[in-house]
Amino acid sequence: MTELLYQTDSYLQDFEARVESIDDENRAIILDRSAFYPGGGGQPADSGALVAGEITYTIKRAKKVGPQVLHYVEGDSPLPEVGQAVQGRVDWVPRYHLMRTHTALHILCGVVFRDYGALVTGGNMEPLKGRMDFEFETMHKELVEKIEQAVNQEVVNARPVHIRILPREEAFQIPDLIRTKINLLPEGIKEVRVVEIVGLDLQADGGTHVHNTSEVGHVRVVDYKSKGKINKRIYIEMDDPSA
Ligand SMILES: [Zn+2]
Repeated sequence: MTELLYQTDSYLQDFEARVESIDDENRAIILDRSAFYPGGGGQPADSGALVAGEITYTIKRAKKVGPQVLHYVEGDSPLPEVGQAVQGRVDWVPRYHLMRTHTALHILCGVVFRDYGALVTGGNMEPLKGRMDFEFETMHKELVEKIEQAVNQEVVNARPVHIRILPREEAFQIPDLIRTKINLLPEGIKEVRVVEIVGLDLQADGGTHVHNTSEVGHVRVVDYKSKGKINKRIYIEMDDPSA
């Protein structure tokens, strides 16, 4: 079982772990703990590196299979031994861009629900680019501009983003969570990870987020599209200040 370090500290880039097992067929390393985000909820998996003894393994991506996180190794160097200590490092630039993007999408989600009562039906993201689908009858330019303004106002408002892991029963008491279909969670799940943009949005979510909406930076709504009678898609982009 891999302890998911990113769940409680999304800013963790470097970590120490031990090799729990090796998947020779897939050339994947399974660790007892990992800061690698294994993908899910529209957020792509992290890449990075693992150092074991003299060897540095380039990790193309991580993936969660059952309770384990698999780190897929590039190249053909011999894989480490079970029990060996490793140092892990997440490729930070794309990951931090994804944190900003993921939080931006939650801001969008919160604003659209608060101002129009529209629910999200899906979403996806890449670093600094994302899209989200809403149950909206009509979408037009003025409406999209209003939404963009409201999103950027919430960036300026610098709302804290809190992550909590709650017992299932406690999470089910939070009325706001009902709209994100928390009731669809499988029976066996005992704890629910909750991401709250204080005063704006609350969701059951497994992704990595920034600590404050101010870190998201300016958000541009770059396009919108009809994806059916009641589904409308909004596309956002953000800038890389270092580029
Ligand atoms: Zn999310």
